[in-house]
Amino acid sequence: MFTHPSMESYSVVVGEYSFSIILLSVVIASFASYTAISMNERMQENSFFHRNLWLILASIAMGFGIWSMHFVGMGAYLLPISMTYEPRLTFLSIIPAITSSFLVFYLVNRRRKSIGFNLISGVTMGIGISAMHYIGMASMVSDAVYTYDFTIFTASVAIAISISFIAIYIFSSLQHLMKNRHLKMFTSLVMGLAISSMHYTGLIGTTYYIHRDKIDSLHGVHQMNMTYLNISVSIGLGLLLLLLLLSSFMDRYIDYRVNYFESLTRIPNRRSFEKMLNSPTYHGSLAMWYIPDIEKINVEQGYNFGDKVIQYLGHLFSQWTSSSMKLYQLQGKRFVFLIQDVDGIAEFERTMNRIAEQLKKQTEIDGKLIKIEAVCAISTTEEHSDPKRLYTEALAVLEHPSTRYDYQVIRFDNAIHTHSFEEEILGSIGDAMREGQLFMVYQPKIIACTNGLSGFEALIRWKHPEYGMLSPVTFIPILEQSEQMEEVTNWIIEQVCKQIAEWVKMDYRVYPVSINISGDYVTSPILLNVLREMIKKYKLKPHNLELEITETSVVKSIKDAVKALNTFREEGFSVALDDFGTGVSSLSYLKQLPISTLKIDKSFIDDVPQSEKDSSILKAILAIGRTLSLDIVLEGVETEEQVQFLRQDSESLIFQGYYFAKPMTSAELLNRLAQRNLV
Ligand code: C2E
Ligand code: CA
Ligand code: CA
Repeated sequence: MFTHPSMESYSVVVGEYSFSIILLSVVIASFASYTAISMNERMQENSFFHRNLWLILASIAMGFGIWSMHFVGMGAYLLPISMTYEPRLTFLSIIPAITSSFLVFYLVNRRRKSIGFNLISGVTMGIGISAMHYIGMASMVSDAVYTYDFTIFTASVAIAISISFIAIYIFSSLQHLMKNRHLKMFTSLVMGLAISSMHYTGLIGTTYYIHRDKIDSLHGVHQMNMTYLNISVSIGLGLLLLLLLLSSFMDRYIDYRVNYFESLTRIPNRRSFEKMLNSPTYHGSLAMWYIPDIEKINVEQGYNFGDKVIQYLGHLFSQWTSSSMKLYQLQGKRFVFLIQDVDGIAEFERTMNRIAEQLKKQTEIDGKLIKIEAVCAISTTEEHSDPKRLYTEALAVLEHPSTRYDYQVIRFDNAIHTHSFEEEILGSIGDAMREGQLFMVYQPKIIACTNGLSGFEALIRWKHPEYGMLSPVTFIPILEQSEQMEEVTNWIIEQVCKQIAEWVKMDYRVYPVSINISGDYVTSPILLNVLREMIKKYKLKPHNLELEITETSVVKSIKDAVKALNTFREEGFSVALDDFGTGVSSLSYLKQLPISTLKIDKSFIDDVPQSEKDSSILKAILAIGRTLSLDIVLEGVETEEQVQFLRQDSESLIFQGYYFAKPMTSAELLNRLAQRNLV
């Protein structure tokens, strides 16, 4: 391959370069690199699909890019010889390109980075590109023979290796910045140049000869079969484009699945439900099934069994859905049907009664016969136009003392349910504060690495004379709608400050206590005044308190929220963003808000570590929190496995959950501290 044929019987054939095709080939190589880097990004991110899928796609994109660059590049050297390609070798030449790309992406994605790995990657890539080129050359069939100049041949391989090394070096050391389009384009261009400069150096080192007998067959024009050019460009570009489209489609799909569906049942979740209810055209009826026993089943029979019960219910309810009747699951305990119709309410109610009949029957789950208690509340926009009220109306039915969980299907009745529940709540909250029906409980937060206490969250309780223990989830939304929540929040702040002062007096070590601030009250100047006043009255310091806000405080005006939070932070109060992941969870909010702590919602922890997908989502959220230097609290940690798994990821986390302690009154808390069985 390096020895010249005898010059007596052969003469040299010289061609010309087409500048436009050279340019096209460089563009193809760079475009391929760009696609491959984008695929590689997906591997870095936590994806719904296994990372190896992205690794393979990235390698295919890169390999095809090198390959089509080569065949387009062959067309850039215009020779007066007829030329075709031998299909088997042409196909075979893609293998070194894909294999070396695979090895390189595999190596660059290793956690440990070193210049040594970059060197190995550079050599691998360079050899891959060169092997592809020279196998591609060997696949040429023509009247001409050719030889390589040994020095230039060696130089072409050396060039491929060194420029690949430079591109890989840039890529691997700046991988975390590859989200930056310009940098990504620049890296792709360097890689594109590595591929094409190897190719053209190789071509310069190639001399074509034709037998003197065949000299007559030389044509004045380039005879290379242009269909090859067209086919390779089309295949290469088409495939790359397809891969790009596929990956962005997958990304959107993943986002959608994770955000809008329950992982256990694959039924649309609360977020989908709210989206539907908030859509301006929605006008219809709602049926909410409430399964009171899920928690009891979880505790008594284990979470695995509880999950199976939820899956069974999901399956049962799903069978009744239709194009006009949609099903949603709001946490584990509530399933909601929505119809876009108020006229069909009678049929809707009949359908719910049929479901009730099905639920009444005993069923066998995991070899156990059980009967799952349930009740259904129906509300409709017939009487008013605000679909948002459907939800609170259904809740009012479920919370009403007359409601039994005996498979009833109960239509919301303004006269019975509103007046006796919502208004009752609003009318009696004042008395409740004065008469000691409302009280605070404190849930410990635990430092992951030391098991020591880091603070408490104050949570409200209402021992109602008529309804018994009311959950804050029931009465707080009602109070929020009527703005009475602000008064209650002020009351809570005073209770908490009083409590801390008591602990100080008793000589207990004082930990910060978080207080939940509802809605947009955080932007109200009254809140700041109340906090200042209470701190002064009970001789505390601002760092004794932390404010927990949710994204609802922010959605109205991010500017006002940032301003308010800055003031709190300057005064010395900590601020936590609660329930992260359940609202709009916009990263742009997260970046702008001057918060000190991120509280990750329980729903992200529930299926960890069993669900690989949830575990990786959680890890991604933790990584974001760490990047922003936030303290991270994980809410709702319930099991030993969760603790083990989460500890592995980071020692600097804070846990809050039933595994460590439930919310307790101060007396219960002191009791546990005294027995030393809390931490
Ligand atoms: P949140 O602020 O997210 O509070 C955490 C809730 O999760 C509490 O429920 C707590 O008891 C519960 N929790 C903690 N660990 C676990 C666990 O391991 N497993 C389970 N299943 N649950 C756990 P709680 O006290 O019923 O409060 C519910 C919600 O009501 C709170 O959610 C908050 O949004 C609201 N809320 C409660 N107290 C107050 C308050 O004083 N002010 C305001 N504005 N809202 C409050
Ligand atoms: Ca909270
Ligand atoms: Ca929370």
